[in-house]
Amino acid sequence: MTQPVLSTLMSKLPDLSSLREDTRIILSGRDPHRYGGMVNPPVFHVSTVLAESIEQLNARDHLEDLGVQEMVYGCTGTPTSWALENAVAELEGGHRCLAYSTGLGAVTGALLAFLKAGDHLLMTDSVYAPTRRFCNGILKRFGVETTYYDPLIGADIRSLLRPNTTVVFTESPGSHTFEVQDIPAIAEVAHAHGAKVLMDNTWASPLFFKPFEYGVDVSIQAGTKYICGHADAMLGTVTTTKESWPELQDCTRQLGQCAGPDDLYLAQRGFRTLAVRLRHHQSSALTIAEWLQSRPEVRQVLYPALPGAPGHEIWKRDFLGASGLFGIELEPCAEEAIADMLNGMRLFGMGYSWGGYESLLIPANVQKIRTAVPWSFEGPLLRIHIGLEDIDDLKDDLNDGLKRLRNFRG
Ligand SMILES: *Cc1c(COP(=O)(O)O)cnc(C)c1O
Repeated sequence: MTQPVLSTLMSKLPDLSSLREDTRIILSGRDPHRYGGMVNPPVFHVSTVLAESIEQLNARDHLEDLGVQEMVYGCTGTPTSWALENAVAELEGGHRCLAYSTGLGAVTGALLAFLKAGDHLLMTDSVYAPTRRFCNGILKRFGVETTYYDPLIGADIRSLLRPNTTVVFTESPGSHTFEVQDIPAIAEVAHAHGAKVLMDNTWASPLFFKPFEYGVDVSIQAGTKYICGHADAMLGTVTTTKESWPELQDCTRQLGQCAGPDDLYLAQRGFRTLAVRLRHHQSSALTIAEWLQSRPEVRQVLYPALPGAPGHEIWKRDFLGASGLFGIELEPCAEEAIADMLNGMRLFGMGYSWGGYESLLIPANVQKIRTAVPWSFEGPLLRIHIGLEDIDDLKDDLNDGLKRLRNFRG
């Protein structure tokens, strides 16, 4: 028996550094000629990987630490996982990436990798709610103290640092309230203090924000959203700088975390069309955001790409584009009026998650869970995801919905 062809996996990849981004999205992580010319990597369903000899079995133990991508065991990486992980690391501009079974798993795995009992964590008040639950639950139980900070704090985060502050967690923009954080200002202060900067970069995807150019040490993606892009798989990724990689790798292996092969496959397939999908999401979202801005029922549109919207200046300075998710602050109205609007939508679905090809619309009233800064919105918030449908159909549906809202008589 010969050792499988996988031992030199990835060796045939073209040099991507001379190629432009859209081309790198297509090529990164793939090596078709290693698998008889198949365009997509095969889906490896595996736990046990047999060795040819005792010598080979023993030699395997150190392969991962040496950075060698060779199959040793199902959980420590397969060509299916590397196809995605290498592609995400390439596009985000980090050193290496590890896939997790969910975005939340990636968030909690990354936090566990860089925190220990007695540490102090600075967490943005705009964070994804389940991340907050983890901080207030398991992290607290294991002796990590969390302070929530104003997402717009910028360099003033200095005043919140304590000698034991080891992690500053950012999420920009917040996925319900869309504050755009000054990541480079926060990173400069955090690094001077010796703290790591973690970022949930799901909104922009690896395409529209390059975290490692702005001082982020560890970037997290809920791959469930735009990377998968079709509302049919769960996945998370954590990408790090070279310096932060050993801690992430060690912690991930201790936790026994990995993603399932079918979801990894769907994610790497979705990844190939990320750029075309996101540009379409962006252009439709911008058109609809502008249109909503002019509506009398709408008090404010929270879309950083919209000129004049909160966070637009920093977004323009740091981001390369905007995705299809944004917020709408309505003029104050009855809860039943919103129910009337949402229950009658024909194209906009109601459901959690986002980043798929379909449009979604849900209430986003997170005021009860914010703790660092007083809630500043007077009207109710909706969260909208603009999918890939025809934009005039989407407008018609929203137009009818806003009419129901306006005409509601309780
Ligand atoms: C959805 C989401 C997550 C969690 O992803 P799951 O795959 O659903 O666990 C984390 N962060 C943000 C910003 C998200 O929107």
